[in-house]
Amino acid sequence: MIEDFQLISPGKVRVRYAPSPTGPLHIGSARTALFNFLFSQKYKGTFILRIEDTDKERSKKEYEEDIINSLKWLGIIWQEGPDIGGKYGPYRQSERVDIYKKYIKKLLDEDKIYPCFCSKDELESFRQYQMSIGKAPIYSGKCRNLSKEEVKKKMEKGIPFVLRFKTPLNEKIVFKDLLRGKIIFSTDEIGDFVIAKDFETPLYNFAAIIDDYEMRISHVIRGEDHISNTPKQILLQKALGIEPPLYLHIPLILGPDRSKLSKRHGTKSVLEYKKEGFLSEAVINFLALLGWHPKEEKEIFSLNYLINEFSIEGIQKGGAVFNKEKMIWLNGYYIRKSPLEKIANLAIPYLVDAKLIKAEKIDDFPSNEFLILETGKKVNFDFIKNIISIHQERIKILSEIPNLVDYFFKQKITIDKDLLIWKDASELEIKDCLIKVKKIIENIPEINFNRENLEKILSEESLKIGKGDRGKVLWPLRVALSGKKASAGPFDIATILGKEEILKRIEEAIKILS
Ligand code: GLU
Repeated sequence: MIEDFQLISPGKVRVRYAPSPTGPLHIGSARTALFNFLFSQKYKGTFILRIEDTDKERSKKEYEEDIINSLKWLGIIWQEGPDIGGKYGPYRQSERVDIYKKYIKKLLDEDKIYPCFCSKDELESFRQYQMSIGKAPIYSGKCRNLSKEEVKKKMEKGIPFVLRFKTPLNEKIVFKDLLRGKIIFSTDEIGDFVIAKDFETPLYNFAAIIDDYEMRISHVIRGEDHISNTPKQILLQKALGIEPPLYLHIPLILGPDRSKLSKRHGTKSVLEYKKEGFLSEAVINFLALLGWHPKEEKEIFSLNYLINEFSIEGIQKGGAVFNKEKMIWLNGYYIRKSPLEKIANLAIPYLVDAKLIKAEKIDDFPSNEFLILETGKKVNFDFIKNIISIHQERIKILSEIPNLVDYFFKQKITIDKDLLIWKDASELEIKDCLIKVKKIIENIPEINFNRENLEKILSEESLKIGKGDRGKVLWPLRVALSGKKASAGPFDIATILGKEEILKRIEEAIKILS
């Protein structure tokens, strides 16, 4: 069977992501944006960003900026939008009032909408009543048949009103969702819904269909929570003689408890995840996995792969469960795969925030110099790069970097005496091992103090000192240098810290052992 979406001719697709700027961009919305973007790229179409800011109280410029910055960071780019304009602009609903007014007038002239003067209290008590008798709360229709004179009188008195759509009674609205197939609603469960607050303030359902039409949108891809809006939009399109676009409602994202994902589940906005140390590649990969799967067994995908492989058939119908561990695992994968230079650069702001280093010009690498705050020592970008290189394998989130590497920036590290002890060796034995290894290190000429030599000399010597058990030397040596239960290996640490510093640290460790 050939589905509608298979008849799409390349270049004809026009999709939009239409956020309301009433909060920062969250994971669910970012996924909607991504699916629209992928669909448009796959079919060589156009991706449009439209800001739906009809709710004046809740819409904020800062949220619009957050949305735009989040999308850009993710690499989701649009060809038409509020910041870049386009043939069918403006792309901010607050700037399109004149367009909506024209359509509101048309519907009024054709008697397809009417002013409703019912007060909030009145509406609420009718709603309560309907619910008490087990009915779905819809508008009573009280103002639907007011005469022209009655309307005029009420308007003259200045009674506040809204505009309602005259929903035809007892009709079926049928539409085909590209994912779910036929969906049927009865107009009796919709009632006369509000389309505008007044003659120039349309609400979402009305503004959205006008914009979808005026912007030549071919496919509306949005969250499943909008399914119940679709019949209202179809009714309005019919009333205006507008051809509806094709609809696809993507499944909800669920929390680990399988209820609809919300802040309650501890999820963050896209930019908060960025701040926490997620890479955009990992977030994109994670978002795609939330409800979409390629034909092959694969779960690591780049944006380019997704653009080529994205298909409606790959979208799952059931809810997708948000799994933070998976997101962290993916992030670790992308950190390991990233060029060292990139991760080292990304690490700097975290090291600065943790007050381990001070960098005057964060944006000017790699020529920058950094000041180690505790020691007052100046280091260059290579120093940071070397540290990151020996930790890159184990970093899962950038924000954990300071904790992993702080011992490179400390004047004095704290060492837990018990941690120095290797297996069942005695304190005295360990002390002796450290004294001996210190001597060996002292005798390595500065000129030969490199990773290769250190490994060679210390591996051989520790075998002798530890009488066949290298651990007796290398374990306390590593702890003496890092103070940590888990850290990079002793040769790596020693090479970066340098001879003088490591001798100092070994001496400190010897002192605490009796
Ligand atoms: N402004 C709506 C929202 O943020 C968009 C719904 C739609 O895509 O039609 O949920």
